[in-house]
Amino acid sequence: DLQLSDRVQQIKPSPTLAVTNRAAELKAAGKDIIGLGAGEPDFDTPEHIKQAAVEAINNGFTKYTAVDGTPGLKKAIINKLQKDNGLSYEANQILVSCGGKQSFFNLALAYINPGDEVVIPAPYWVSYPDMVVIAGGVPVVIETDESTRFKITAEQLEASITANTKLVVLNSPSNPSGVAYTADELKALGAVLKKHPQIMIATDDMYEYIWWADFAFENILTVCPELYDRTIVLNGVSKAYSMTGWRIGYAAGPAKLIGAMKKVQSQSTSNPTSISQVAAEAALNGGRDCVLPMVEAFKERHDYVVKTLNEIPGFSCIPADGAFYAFPNVKGAMDKAGIDNDVDFAEKLLLEAGVALVPGSAFGSPGYMRLSFATSMKTLEDALNRIKKALS
Ligand code: PLP
Repeated sequence: DLQLSDRVQQIKPSPTLAVTNRAAELKAAGKDIIGLGAGEPDFDTPEHIKQAAVEAINNGFTKYTAVDGTPGLKKAIINKLQKDNGLSYEANQILVSCGGKQSFFNLALAYINPGDEVVIPAPYWVSYPDMVVIAGGVPVVIETDESTRFKITAEQLEASITANTKLVVLNSPSNPSGVAYTADELKALGAVLKKHPQIMIATDDMYEYIWWADFAFENILTVCPELYDRTIVLNGVSKAYSMTGWRIGYAAGPAKLIGAMKKVQSQSTSNPTSISQVAAEAALNGGRDCVLPMVEAFKERHDYVVKTLNEIPGFSCIPADGAFYAFPNVKGAMDKAGIDNDVDFAEKLLLEAGVALVPGSAFGSPGYMRLSFATSMKTLEDALNRIKKALS
């Protein structure tokens, strides 16, 4: 009998990928399924970015690069962080990885000891708790709901901190809620963290560019520069430039921590794909103009989806500040259907409406559903009509 590691038995497969696979299975079996589970933009990667990659191939840029990224891409990242965020970094403070997912994984392995606590606000990106568990750490989840727009308060943060707290994770705009923290809210969290100098802060800014709020994007470091030595900024090109398949993410932070994360990466994947690094460099150096039409489309869909979700009996949905997800509360509809478990409710929507959504419990917030609107208006109209019909 095959004995798997204790480590792997403590984690679960990514639930968002599982929903996508389940929808694909039903489709392959001939069922008419609309998948709104996937967390990736539906747009093609912009042409100038693809061209840069084609040139890289033609020029033979197809070999190992430095583990932590090419000098050109690191320079482009440094310039981006300076220009957009007013943050200054040297090359030894930047690590390029195979997607934002690997950036966080490197952080967990390089920084978390068994028993260390990591504060994670819910609803959270599905991978944070499991990656912390792989590293032997203990996720400490702070629950939120619509009353604070799914954002943690300074009081909640203070109450979650113990002598074992090693890391606090912030993600704004959030996957799955789409909400973003304001400068004042971040300052209030920063004030708490300043009292606990042993804690590092990871700010996951993956959705920075998918933004339509009427206030400016900030992260905890841009509003609390005193936290520079204790903050790691995580970002990438996957969501911003519709480059999920290219697998490029990056981390910026204290040189000692980045160096340790690089060591982990040097013994696992080595450098991210050379060709993708050239593409990411072209993306960042090209600025965000090519992103604006995508953001406009996401905003139009967002407005339609939020309005329509609120018309479904037993659903209620707050508007988002960015990203491409709606996160409606469906507890009323679950009650009406006599279902007390959001996984079963997602299954009902899949079988009876033919629409795949991800249950909120996957994000630590049962009673909600995540709907990705990274798909056409027509598809969204069909999907929401089907849900309305199935529940009426
Ligand atoms: N961070 C957040 C909040 C995300 O939603 C994702 C992707 O779903 C990632 C990081 C990782 O992105 P990738 O590994 O595709 O670059």
